[in-house]
Parts: sequence; structure tokens; C-alpha cells
Amino acid sequence: MKQRALLFLFVILIGLTASYLLLRDGKAPQLAFYPANGSVSANNPPTLTLTDTGTGLQNLVVTVSQEGKATELIDTTFPDGTTRHTVALPLAKLGLKDGPLVIDIATKDNALLANRTKQKLTVALDNRPPTISVLTTAHNMNQGGSGLVMFRVSEKVQRSGVQVGDRFFPAFPQQGEVFACLFAFPYDVKAGDFLPRLVAVDLAGNERISGINFHTRLKPLKSDRITISQGFLNEKMPDFQHFFPDTRDPLQLFLRVNGELRAANVAKLKEFAAKTAGKPLWQGAFLRLPNAAPKAGFNDQRDYYFNDKKIDHQTHLGQDLASLAASPVPAANSGTVVFADELGIYGQCVIIDHGLGLQSLYSHLSSINVAVGASVTKGQIIGRTGTTGMAGGDHLHFGILLNGIEVDPLEWLDQHWITDNFTDKRNSAMTTAK
Ligand SMILES: [Zn+2]
Repeated sequence: MKQRALLFLFVILIGLTASYLLLRDGKAPQLAFYPANGSVSANNPPTLTLTDTGTGLQNLVVTVSQEGKATELIDTTFPDGTTRHTVALPLAKLGLKDGPLVIDIATKDNALLANRTKQKLTVALDNRPPTISVLTTAHNMNQGGSGLVMFRVSEKVQRSGVQVGDRFFPAFPQQGEVFACLFAFPYDVKAGDFLPRLVAVDLAGNERISGINFHTRLKPLKSDRITISQGFLNEKMPDFQHFFPDTRDPLQLFLRVNGELRAANVAKLKEFAAKTAGKPLWQGAFLRLPNAAPKAGFNDQRDYYFNDKKIDHQTHLGQDLASLAASPVPAANSGTVVFADELGIYGQCVIIDHGLGLQSLYSHLSSINVAVGASVTKGQIIGRTGTTGMAGGDHLHFGILLNGIEVDPLEWLDQHWITDNFTDKRNSAMTTAK
């Protein structure tokens, strides 16, 4: 009898051990702390994310200490089945001083023998936004044109640049804490709505927004009447059929290409902006296609007519230059090729990056003889003019992009403008900052 009872106990013990081994959760909870750069701000509280996909989270205790004084910030028990929890650390209520801070994090799961995770983080508490000192004084902006602002920041920043409406033009460090930012007075922004703001965000996430002294100059808009003939539609539209296979009527197809495809192509230009160099790769005025007649300008307001009826309206965002057919096209300035392919209405197209967000665009080419990644020098032949894309006759559509937005190319073709608005301003700001 006694033997049987012992055996029974033994079997139960084996059973319990087996189920423990089967059911146990061997993994401790995972911790993720953001920001991970060692700086935190009470105004932009850091977050802590816990995960435990095994038996789930049981509790969390967070203690904060500064100068030897420890305060419990969080002590929470989680409901059963909590596998993920994110919390913003409410540092603001502790009245801490800027400076070093130790954050102790302890959490455990619901396993029979609870798995514990502990972490001690030493971070810098920084509640002050960076100070911005603007080093350039005159910012004369033509509508559709470009401008340079140079500034110094008081501490390391994770993001800085100029905000214009919903567009952001990033700044690039030039030397030490001196930054350069090329920004635009975008062609589609009304003078009264143009308000550039300098923005700098430090590593802890504190943001400073400051004004820039600026002066705007408006340019009268030029109107242009474009007549679309049946011959043009017959000749040109088959090239675009594959973009809209369901639209068989040539005029309807033209309207979709001129509207939808144009908008998609213009949006695509923004993608190349991220591939810009942090320092200027160019020098001096940009080259214009030699021996070419201007055919259309930047920001021309185009009305399209078919059989004397107005069918469309678009803004032309470059300079059209016509020379002999298949004329060699020089790189307007030195830089790196970031695009060399077909691009919808632009046809065969090359984009060269010149640094600081500045890029030049060459389109409707009949041939391209540079590849993405190639370094080109000013004047180097990159292709030949043509009629690819939405072009009626052989010409070069030349554009200048600033962080993906088309700006007036004429400023960049003008040595005086570049000296006054870029070179002298940049050089003098770098000298002052030394
Ligand atoms: Zn054009």
C-alpha cells in the first residue's frame, strides 16, 4: 500500500515537471527605449516599449535618479495577456534639471519562475531647444526663385532647414556648427503666403523655429497658347498608350498624359532629392545649351487649344531651348548623375546632382551617354537633344530642381546672381564663423 502511494506521488511529480517544461516561458521581456541617442527631453518625452510574446507582461517599475535622489516614476501591473505595452515617460512632473539622469527599468513576465529584464540607462536631460544664429543678412527672393541662408546652431541637431508651407528644405553642415540651406520661393505660393521659417531640432527632440529677414520680388506671369493638332495627337499619343491602356481616344489620352502622368512625373522628381551631396559640387554659373533659341520659359501659364476650344491648362516648369536637331547637350555644371532613363512626359531624361539639394534636369533627349553614379564635369556632353516624351519638336527642356521642386533656372545661369546670392554669402558666413 505504501509502495503504491509513493509510486503515485512519483508519477504526479513526473507529470508536473513535464508540463512545467512544456509550458514554461524561457524568454525574458524585451525593452526598446526611444530616442536611442542618449539625449532626452521632458517636452518631447522618451518612450519605452515592452514586449513578451510568451506568458505576457506582468509588471513594470521605472525609477529616475538625479544627483543621488531617486524617484519612482512608474509602478504598473498589467492585465493578463498583455504582450506589448508602450509608455511615454512623464519626466516633466519630476522637476528635474538639465544634465545627466539615470533611468532604471525593471519588468518581468508571467512565467512560473518569472523572467526578469533590468536595464540602467544613463542619459542627458536637455529641455532647451537649440539657439539659431542667422549669419546671412539679405534674402532677396524672386517668385519661383532660390535663396541661401547660412546659420549656426548652439548644439548638435538631428534636423534643420527652412520650412515654407508644407515644404521642407533641409540644411547641410558646412564646417563645425555652420549650416547652409538653399530654399525656394515656390512658383505656386502667393507672395502673401510666403513665410520661410528656420527650424532646428536637437538630439533630444527640442525644436526651435525662427524667422528670416526676407524681401520678395514678384515676376509677371507669361501666358502661352498651345494648339494641339490632330496630326500631333496621331504622331505622339501612341508613345503614351501603355500608360493608360483603357483610354483609346487620342484627345482623352492626351489629357490624361498632360494631367495625371505629368503630376506623377513631377512627384517622382522629389525622390532624387534625397540623393544630394552635403557640399556644393559645382562652381560658377550654370551653362546654357549653346547656340539655342529660347522657346518657353519657367512658370509660363500654358493654355491648350484643340479645334479652337480650350481643353487644358498647365504650368511650364523649365526652360525650352531649341538648336539644331540632335545637338550635343553639355552638363550645366559639375556633379553626379542621379537619374538617366525614361520618365513619362520628360521622355529620355538625365538629372545631375550638384549638392545642397540643387539638381539640373535635361529632358526630351534622343540619346543619353551617361549612367547613374557617374561624376560629370561642367560642359561634358551627357546626351543629345530630341523629341522624346511630350515634345512637339526637337528641343531641350532644361530645369533646375531644389529639393525636388522646380525653380527658375535663369538665376542659376547668371554669374552675377550666383556671386551675390550664393558664393559671397557662403564665403562670408564661413569666415565670420571661424
Ligand atoms: Zn519644356
